[in-house]
Amino acid sequence: MEIKFNQLIRGYQKFKDEYDKAAISVLESGWYVMGKELERFEYKFAEFIGSKYCVGLNSGLDALRLAFRALNIGEGDEVIVPANTFIASVLGITENGATPVFVEPDEFYNLDTELIEEKITGKTKAILAVHLYGQAANMTILSKISSKYNLYLIEDCAQSHGARYEGKMTGTWGAISCFSFYPTKNLGAFGDSGAIVTDNEEINEKIKMLRNYGSKIKYHNEILGINSRLDEMQAALLYVKLKHYDELRLEREMIAKKYLDGINNENIILPTIRNAAEHVWHLFVIRSRKRNEVQSYLANKGIETRIHYPIPPHLSEAYGYLGHKAGDFPVTEDYANTVLSLPLYEGMTDEEIDYVIKTIND
Ligand SMILES: *Cc1c(COP(=O)(O)O)cnc(C)c1O
Repeated sequence: MEIKFNQLIRGYQKFKDEYDKAAISVLESGWYVMGKELERFEYKFAEFIGSKYCVGLNSGLDALRLAFRALNIGEGDEVIVPANTFIASVLGITENGATPVFVEPDEFYNLDTELIEEKITGKTKAILAVHLYGQAANMTILSKISSKYNLYLIEDCAQSHGARYEGKMTGTWGAISCFSFYPTKNLGAFGDSGAIVTDNEEINEKIKMLRNYGSKIKYHNEILGINSRLDEMQAALLYVKLKHYDELRLEREMIAKKYLDGINNENIILPTIRNAAEHVWHLFVIRSRKRNEVQSYLANKGIETRIHYPIPPHLSEAYGYLGHKAGDFPVTEDYANTVLSLPLYEGMTDEEIDYVIKTIND
């Protein structure tokens, strides 16, 4: 059997009629950027997260870079960030001229809250919490540390749409929360897009200006902005998907549960869930000392897997200038050498799930 890591086409087919109708309605409207579809999606997404405002943007990376810019975090400032994250989390910091200060993860792949305080200096301005793989970070403790040191708490929710911590939605804990709707994300568009959510009216206004050349009124440019708008087509398609999001979330949960119950092999470490944390299973990540052998064995059996992520940002060529070396973040580096993501996507069949389980157990 051939099992791809992802099959976006199945997600489309699931609600094909509704997506087609939404797309054609945008085409026929004659209005393609900054219109009713965007407004409607922003309203609906803010409501879904439980925050006051949502601003639709071009990508998750734009959400991150504009979040730091809106808070005036830049040159000379430091931001605490997990060492084991996707590089975009870090790019959002460095694009503003600020310095990332890496912190090792705990066994749930999120910030190890025991290690944060020793990294805080007079220059620290913010903590960026990333809810990696879909599991909420320990937001209660992160909130406490942020208030104690008067730091902004910012959330990277690119992988955690709809996940909660102690019953409170990820995206409602921070001053600003950043979302990506890249096609493979849990709430994925049919192209690039992202958003920020916030309860702060001033931040909402500022990011609305920043995304549109720094203007509220056309040609009246108050600040230096960029072009980062979520277009009408993506907004309309996202609106359709958001309506069905609960169903999609339950589907991912069902697949993850089958993997958790079914996979049983002493060479494999399964993901675990922290008390009070919810997991929306953006990725199902196992670990193995024999990771590369497991990956090629599965490939030989037709099962495609991925590694999230093989090179941690501190060891990337791009961040060579920060001066880190191998061994600086041993937990992160160990994860990079042992993690493996299994196929988990909308429309995966029981037969496919069972085949993955059986092949791993064999
Ligand atoms: C995908 C992702 C981003 C970036 O989102 P884009 O829309 O691809 O720019 C940022 N952070 C994390 C954790 C991500 O997974």
